[in-house]
Amino acid sequence: MEFTTPCGPSIRHSRSTNAHTLVNWPLPPERPSSEDSGMKTPFTPGDERPHLLDLTSDDLRHWLDDRGYPTFRNGQIWAWVMHRRAESFDGMSDLPKKLREELDSSFRLWTASVAAHQKADDGTEKLLFELADGGRIECVLLREEARRSICVSSQVGCAMGCVFCASGLDGVDRNLSRGEILEQMLRLQRLLPEEERLSHIVMMGMGEPLANLDSVLSALEVARDPQGLGISPRRITISTVGLPAAIDRLAQYATPFHLAISLHAPNNTLRDRLVPVNAKIGIDDILSAADRYFAATGRRLTFEYVLLAGINDTQQCALELVRLLRGRVSMLNVIPYNQVAGLPYATPSSEAIHNFRNFLLEGGINIMFRQRKGDGIDAACGQLRRQRAN
Ligand code: SAH
Repeated sequence: MEFTTPCGPSIRHSRSTNAHTLVNWPLPPERPSSEDSGMKTPFTPGDERPHLLDLTSDDLRHWLDDRGYPTFRNGQIWAWVMHRRAESFDGMSDLPKKLREELDSSFRLWTASVAAHQKADDGTEKLLFELADGGRIECVLLREEARRSICVSSQVGCAMGCVFCASGLDGVDRNLSRGEILEQMLRLQRLLPEEERLSHIVMMGMGEPLANLDSVLSALEVARDPQGLGISPRRITISTVGLPAAIDRLAQYATPFHLAISLHAPNNTLRDRLVPVNAKIGIDDILSAADRYFAATGRRLTFEYVLLAGINDTQQCALELVRLLRGRVSMLNVIPYNQVAGLPYATPSSEAIHNFRNFLLEGGINIMFRQRKGDGIDAACGQLRRQRAN
């Protein structure tokens, strides 16, 4: 199955005909600090050293050149960062001591500290990062059979204003840098035993990736590069609320990543309510951009649909959705809502989910329903940050 997962709400894809299992997990013991995760950080507020991960390989090669180091040191350093999971420059044991010291006085390998580390019984782990400027973001490692998927944030907060989502309740603070996006990937990778590799990435954490496309693409290029994390672009999903100009840019981009569009409603009246940014865009323009993306890349699109009890789970909505998506080479991913404290939305009953699913199936729509995961660790992105802020 090619599609990966959204942060937290769920990770299992199920096409079975039975009612869906909505798993509510007991609250796991909390890992209060970076100590527990084995990820002590050299984080110091006010540290002005650049983030190594903001440098491209060429940048670092020039830096090494300027100091008279041979080019092969560049490859060695990146191998330590990407594959050998170095925790510090000092740990890069086959580099000359002087180079390690120079690296350490010039760059930070990590710029975030781990403010919280939560684990669920099934192996899902969530990190709450405190960034150098105090901003907080979340990222998640999901274990499912052989898959090791990570869900990564692109912004501190989010400006899209989806009314059911915890990430955007306080708006957006800023974009994340390429280095901050990469750091999430590398530090999640460090949670895996040595013999395991990351297999999938979804840009479904906090933020709107297409509102920070330069940094997102720059980080994803490293993720897909065999010298980097070596993850196929087919296994890297960019999820968007649907920003047509940025989708067009992505369609022309050399690497065809997997695109997921968060639809959540089959008509503009309802979508304007649930996804306020829609009022300025409209579903038609989004679907036209999606069609152009498919024409340019040949990649099947995914549409996401968070199911909210009594709001977008009706037969009428299902029928409209069928009319909207029929004929498109796409997959509809239906995600039961992951309850956010303080918000007036609820997950539909199993029966309502079952009925909704049947209407779509009868309409001939390609669908995927997911089991929920991660409730116990505030798994919908933005929840943990919010809980800690309160
Ligand atoms: N801004 C991007 C990516 C981040 S959100 C986007 O809109 O796609 C990733 C997905 O999780 C989106 O489909 C979003 O609507 C969904 N989501 C957000 N909060 C959720 C919740 N509480 N329960 C279930 N899904 C949620």
